[in-house]
Amino acid sequence: MRVVARINVAAIERNVALLKRTVGADTAVCAVVKADGYGHGAVPAARAAIAGGATWLAVVTAGEATVLRRGGIDARLLVLGPLDDEDLSEALDAHAQVVVWDDEGVDRLVRVGRPADVHVKLDTGMGRLGQRDAQVALDLCDRIATTTPLRLSGAMTHFATADDPDDELFGLQLGRFSRWADDVRRRHPGVVVHAANSAATLRDPAAHFDLVRPGIAVYGMDPANEDPDRHGLEPALEWIARIASVKPLEPGESVGYGRRFVADRATRIGTVSAGYADGVRRAPTDPGEVLVGGRRVPVAGRVSMDSIGVDLGPDAGERPGDTAVLIGRDGDERITAEDVGRRLGTINYEVTCAIGPRVLREHHRDGVRVAGRDAPAAG
Ligand SMILES: *Cc1c(COP(=O)(O)O)cnc(C)c1O
Repeated sequence: MRVVARINVAAIERNVALLKRTVGADTAVCAVVKADGYGHGAVPAARAAIAGGATWLAVVTAGEATVLRRGGIDARLLVLGPLDDEDLSEALDAHAQVVVWDDEGVDRLVRVGRPADVHVKLDTGMGRLGQRDAQVALDLCDRIATTTPLRLSGAMTHFATADDPDDELFGLQLGRFSRWADDVRRRHPGVVVHAANSAATLRDPAAHFDLVRPGIAVYGMDPANEDPDRHGLEPALEWIARIASVKPLEPGESVGYGRRFVADRATRIGTVSAGYADGVRRAPTDPGEVLVGGRRVPVAGRVSMDSIGVDLGPDAGERPGDTAVLIGRDGDERITAEDVGRRLGTINYEVTCAIGPRVLREHHRDGVRVAGRDAPAAG
């Protein structure tokens, strides 16, 4: 292997079990496995989430729903994103439930003419998808409930600032949604009411309703890009690359395109087999660090498509074939997706989603290899 993302499915299981304990027996957990399970592999992540107590899954596209079904996942499944006619047929073929927020969405369902479980989304302040007008959203519920072969299955919203304890929008959104959900429930008992992403799930039991939709926390990352330890979350992913070569560098000699690193002392440079085609970002001026032999070593020079240079130091004993940890632990040192996100001026979400398709995903259960997308079961 040149570069690998090692994913501990047992960590995903434990994170979901923690979320399930947090919400209690009366609230279901819907694990969000969109974007290939935030880069962790959607099918193995879904399987682990179900083992941890999730009874629903959510994705954004119809294609993502198809991938889960082809992977043998038969849990209740919600497609969160907008769907054109073709997408809608694919989602329904996958026996997924779907979301609408306007009459055009219901018209499309009527036109397609197939049985469908439908959730109505109220926009309580995110300002993107969802119906802004609570009365119109209520009318949509009534229309769906009285239109065969449609079934009104859920009533939902999405929070914009649940990860920010100082922002007042969260409370406003929660209030607007609660009032509307009460109306929906009165008219349509049995509808599944849901609102909470990871941050809201961890922040406020009043946001739990019938079902929560955590994503980032499932993977053991922190919804506010802080230390995942603060909620007892366990990062499931490690990102590890091989050192392909180690060579001495004299003072004045440089590494990489554009000579962005020039040695100011004799040192040893390792060439690590991960580049921007694998998801290591080139743009930042702070090139960052990796872990080698239990110590932090700086990236030396520009990130190129397939590799990076690292300054191992004059006394380094590393040899080709040794590993460099981009995300994960090595000895007492640790680099989290949150650390990488902070350095890049972004968030953990984007860091793991950006790990490229060229990076092998290897799934294990606390160190024991399991069958995953790229690790077909032997025998
Ligand atoms: C992505 C998404 C979630 C999960 O959000 P996290 O912050 O990752 O927990 C929940 N609901 C909707 C509608 C989403 O798009």
